[in-house]
Amino acid sequence: MRIAMIGTGYVGLVSGACLADFGHHVTCVDNDAAKIEALRGGAIPIFEPGLDVLVASNAKAGRLSFTTDLPAAVGEADAVFIAVGTPSRRGDGHADLSYVYAAAREIAGALRDFTVVITKSTVPVGTGDEVERLILEANPAADIVVASNPEFLREGAAIRDFKFPDRIVVGTDDERARKLIGEIYRPLSLNQGPLMFTGRRTAELIKYAANAFLATKITFINEIADLAEKVGADVQEVARGIGMDNRIGPKFLHAGPGFGGSCFPKDTRAILKIAQDHDVPLRIIEAVLAVNDTRKRAMARKVSNALGGSLRGKTVALLGLTFKPDTDDMREAPSIPLVTGLKDMGAQVRAYDPAGMEQARQELPDIDYCDDPYSCAQDADALVIVTEWVQFRALDLAKLKDVLRQPVVVDLRNIYRPEQMAAHGFIYESIGRGTVH
Ligand code: NAD
Repeated sequence: MRIAMIGTGYVGLVSGACLADFGHHVTCVDNDAAKIEALRGGAIPIFEPGLDVLVASNAKAGRLSFTTDLPAAVGEADAVFIAVGTPSRRGDGHADLSYVYAAAREIAGALRDFTVVITKSTVPVGTGDEVERLILEANPAADIVVASNPEFLREGAAIRDFKFPDRIVVGTDDERARKLIGEIYRPLSLNQGPLMFTGRRTAELIKYAANAFLATKITFINEIADLAEKVGADVQEVARGIGMDNRIGPKFLHAGPGFGGSCFPKDTRAILKIAQDHDVPLRIIEAVLAVNDTRKRAMARKVSNALGGSLRGKTVALLGLTFKPDTDDMREAPSIPLVTGLKDMGAQVRAYDPAGMEQARQELPDIDYCDDPYSCAQDADALVIVTEWVQFRALDLAKLKDVLRQPVVVDLRNIYRPEQMAAHGFIYESIGRGTVH
């Protein structure tokens, strides 16, 4: 099977490399010439565990290649995936479909034989109809089917998620397309990857509904954490206690600073816009977004409260900046409103992140960047754990206490135990577990 993957970002590069690993011939296309140049030279433009090895081995085997030449890649492909970005449109929160439509127009002019065009990008319901219309308008003779195959991988665990998916959703009513896409994913049947065929619009909605539900679950436990703090309960035990109920499930019940990242914020905003356009109020999701926005900003106040209510002249050290561990992705990371809030309140901010500092410098140019957790904490008035990188889970607590000016730790990910921190003499504030001294 010959596959063209249009868009070689977090999703396109991982999907392309994994599909090549299944044995297909994949050409990854991007219009960012520097990215393609880097990939051809063996460099990986993003941080994703295991991706360098997977890309290198499949490139070496001749199954994975990189190009800016979209027409050449599409011309010889049986299947063309669209995996370009669909960020929030500035001003109104709708998904910005300009990259998808631009890709569709370019694809239209390059098609030769029967080709299945598969939208992997997260796109509003009805986008498949428009992609089909655009292609046939530009190339009325094209023999195509446009299908939807939303992607559910998580950054940081992307390869595993792609190779061992909970499900693969394929939206098309066309038998030829179902057969071809079934063939693309056939190697996964060994891993029992369940293929779910459905209509195109249903597939498009499944992706948004899934992300909105997960965002709701996180926001729910975050609000319960606030209540737990006030009533003297421990939110982690509450989460465990409710999560053991199979109807609820244990995952996505970690209280924290509010969700961020490249998907949840933009996808919850987009589903709200889709719903508004169809005159259907989605009040739960509206509340989720509002609660989450307020929460991210409130984290700076939490730090201020831990330091007695004022941050003027204080130095705050942040551990972790990316929206989650094992990625360098800074899109809508909770660290961004946190830093803004801390600076607004007069704090000096410095930070250390194992993989995200290069990207962070673009978002947060006026903070100091450090080489490791201890130099970051040196003479700081408070240490804030923002992202739960594994290397922050077993810090040398005695050394940390030694280098901090004040022994104040605000743990926004609950990775330490309050008793343990108290025993080391810290003033320790976490999420939904009260303060300990
Ligand atoms: P990204 O910004 O990392 O990558 C998109 C790539 O597409 C960029 O490299 C860009 O240069 C390229 N591109 C844009 N227009 C192009 C064109 N016309 N021709 C060729 N290349 C073009 O985005 P991403 O994080 O990989 O997300 C892609 C899509 O997948 C989005 O719709 C997103 O919502 C969805 N998604 C993302 C994740 C995730 O964890 N990042 C998970 C599931 C779904």
